[in-house]
Amino acid sequence: MRYHCIIDAYSEDIIRQMEELYAFKTAFLQEAEEGVSYVLCRNRTVVERLGRRISGSAVAIIAEDYSPESVLEALGKETDLEDIYIFGSGICGTELSVRLAARMKGSSVAAVHGLEWKEHVTVKKMVYASHMEGTFRMKKGPYCISLAKGMDRQELEHGTFHIMKEMQCTGLPESVVSRKTTANEAAGGLDEAKVVIAAGRGIRNKENADYLRETAKALGGELGVSRSAAMNAWAPMNRMIGVSGAMLQPDICITAGVSGAAAFYAGIEKSKFIVAINTDGQAPIMKKADVAVADDFVPVVKALRELAER
Ligand SMILES: Cc1cc2nc3c(=O)[nH]c(=O)nc-3n(C[C@H](O)[C@H](O)[C@H](O)COP(=O)(O)OP(=O)(O)OC[C@H]3O[C@@H](n4cnc5c(N)ncnc54)[C@H](O)[C@@H]3O)c2cc1C
Repeated sequence: MRYHCIIDAYSEDIIRQMEELYAFKTAFLQEAEEGVSYVLCRNRTVVERLGRRISGSAVAIIAEDYSPESVLEALGKETDLEDIYIFGSGICGTELSVRLAARMKGSSVAAVHGLEWKEHVTVKKMVYASHMEGTFRMKKGPYCISLAKGMDRQELEHGTFHIMKEMQCTGLPESVVSRKTTANEAAGGLDEAKVVIAAGRGIRNKENADYLRETAKALGGELGVSRSAAMNAWAPMNRMIGVSGAMLQPDICITAGVSGAAAFYAGIEKSKFIVAINTDGQAPIMKKADVAVADDFVPVVKALRELAER
């Protein structure tokens, strides 16, 4: 079995991504045949600057602006139907792995943390809000997987990639009629924050979300939101907590205006200490929290902010 890693060099998280890929390769693919690393990047210099490698050889897939369609066009030309393609954790890796498999009529599984490939390709991932480990047999190659967030990391081997080929991405395919780029606010370490303020629909508007973000910063933490708050665009989607977003384990999580639906709660249940602020003393979150404050979040958060700034 041969495998290839795909590295998203547009990402600010590139070293973490590469270290996770390297640890995965060491744990599960020691006896497999090493393929090449495909590096998605703006130019050749980016690959050369990486200077720390996962495999000896790289194919640089080059485009000034990242677009999944043109990357998939280039990757599709390279894909061998028998091989495993391993993408990094994160939105880009997940999207590309699923779309490449669909394009090449193979199989894909996202957020994988284990792999066996003796007779069949079998992968493991967490399911049911991380309460269970699922084992999935992948039926058809190419086998496209993306890694789970927060996997083990392994320091990279030193050395440079030998760039064996450069592929310039052509423009967008005709099927894309227009394209608008929206700046993606950097995740800012929500995943690793020790203090998180989680804001829900009860905070009512974006101004309050901004106030809560500043309060979180004053406490040395980060703002996360429920799906309702993210859908109202009070914070970017990459701030969403829960089964469809980030699964966190901070020291302290303070929820404000969150009811505590199961899909949300799964994302904070590993917190060491949970404080819930909700006007409804009967909301589900109030029974699950270590401290429940039955009040409007505004005066409570204001008092907390004053304390933090003092
Ligand atoms: C397949 C699926 C996946 C999902 N994935 C996710 C996910 O990953 N993350 C997620 O969050 N949701 C997810 N959901 C949605 C989830 O089920 C809930 O609908 C959502 O979490 C509710 O968000 P909320 O608590 O902000 O809003 P609500 O449930 O509307 O709660 C608002 C709360 O604010 C309180 N409140 C109102 N005013 C104030 C005030 N002034 N001060 C204090 N409290 C106040 C209210 O009493 C209420 O309890 C998913 C749903 C499905 C079906």
